Amino acid sequence: TSLDWEAFAKDLAPVETISEPVLVKKRSRDFFWYSPILNAQLRRSFGDLVAVPKTTEDLAQCLRVAFEHDAPITIRGGGTGNYGQAVPMEGGLIIETTRMNRILEIGEGYVTAQAGANIEEINKALHLQGWELAIFPSTQDIATIGGFIAGGSSGIGSVANGMLRDAGNILSLKAMSVSDTPTENLFEGEAVNHIHHAWGLNGVITEVTLRTVPHRNWIGCMATFDTYAQAYQAGYALALSDNIGRKLVSTVDARICAYFPRLADHIRPEKHLMTSLVPAEDIDAYRALIKEQGGSIDLTMSEDERKEMGLPHVFEFAYNHTTLQVLKADRSATYLQVGCPTPPDAKAIKALRPKLGDDVWQHHEFALLDGEIVTFDLPIVWYTTTERLRKIEATYTENGFPVYDAHICMVEGGGLKNADYRHLAWKKRMDPKGLLNAPKSREWPNVKHLSPEDIEALIPS
Ligand code: FAD
Repeated sequence: TSLDWEAFAKDLAPVETISEPVLVKKRSRDFFWYSPILNAQLRRSFGDLVAVPKTTEDLAQCLRVAFEHDAPITIRGGGTGNYGQAVPMEGGLIIETTRMNRILEIGEGYVTAQAGANIEEINKALHLQGWELAIFPSTQDIATIGGFIAGGSSGIGSVANGMLRDAGNILSLKAMSVSDTPTENLFEGEAVNHIHHAWGLNGVITEVTLRTVPHRNWIGCMATFDTYAQAYQAGYALALSDNIGRKLVSTVDARICAYFPRLADHIRPEKHLMTSLVPAEDIDAYRALIKEQGGSIDLTMSEDERKEMGLPHVFEFAYNHTTLQVLKADRSATYLQVGCPTPPDAKAIKALRPKLGDDVWQHHEFALLDGEIVTFDLPIVWYTTTERLRKIEATYTENGFPVYDAHICMVEGGGLKNADYRHLAWKKRMDPKGLLNAPKSREWPNVKHLSPEDIEALIPS
């Protein structure tokens, strides 16, 4: 953009800024490079200046100055999103939240933290008081809690506790408006979904209060099976079990496991893997289940044993970390996000495999959705052309597996195929000039001239 960024930085004082081009470029990226399609589209989009607020007053100062100058704004936490959510497509100001990182309160079943708090730090503080987050992403070591609430949807814990959007998981949040007098608004109960998963385009989250659950002594478990259908069936049995606790259930094709060198000495080669987190007191029941399902338990480790062995957390072989493990060895891999028929059906998964082709390797996550166990396929795809990628997606769709586009940087892509007019009505209220991450909404240009009430009237009944 054609603003005078040196003058802009002076206006921001005393808020700290970063203008060194290499550092600004680094903070203009996230994990969009997982997708060859997004990589081509986004790799040349960079911001102009980074602001690093330390307090809510600092943040208000950033938003006020950006409002005065009509500067595009992109909020950035840990920068671990997969769809370019944090890429400043129109340049402008990047606001990095990682110094607004205080854990404010830990109580019975909840934690309140500033948006820039690191998720692993939150979990560590909770553990000391006998609690843990009900749901957290596999990127907890890097990601911020505000980025998870603004950009994420589910994660470790979802097999037991559901999706972030489910009632009671996000208890409340505060978000700041972009105006000449930025103010914080409190969202509670169902209203948290006005802001959750809006990719930071309708307000800057300053504080979140999330559900916590009693901390348990989780054992990282890896069991292997001769066939993928067996691993999937065992995963379903564990996800449904009424006598075994679980925080994670994930199954991975044997060919993907060949890309897990850190596990080479710990799991049987050329076998299909089920990864889970099970509480220590339920391990005997878990052993019985795996035996009954025809599997072999290759690895069980408590958190202390994991550290002694120098191994990563088991969830670093689940969710989008599975893709990352493969990408570390070969950048020609990418992935898809696919829903599966409910209830989970190992026969349907088995029947689909030969139709997909040798360039698609399945990986399923088990989660609780609307009170039912469902699975999502996050397969590794060996990318050749966009045509082939779309052909694979069509094979999934034609066989009853809905595809949620992982190669689009619009908030209306992925799981939210239609416009979320609640999000956009709140954008109009909180960001009337449309400065916050506006290029990420396909629908915003069509509604930005309307009043918030008129945008809300577009919500299908
Ligand atoms: P960022 O990438 O910095 O931001 C994400 C979005 O939120 C951007 O649109 C940004 O503008 C916006 N934002 C950030 N902070 C704020 C704020 N304070 N106010 C308003 N908007 C804000 N996701 C899951 O849901 N579950 C998983 O298990 C998971 N696993 C992953 C594994 C890997 C290897 C990778 C690369 C990604 C994974 N993701 C997962 C996606 C992503 O990591 C998570 O959503 C993560 O929590 C994002 O946090 P962040 O701080 O990195 O956010």
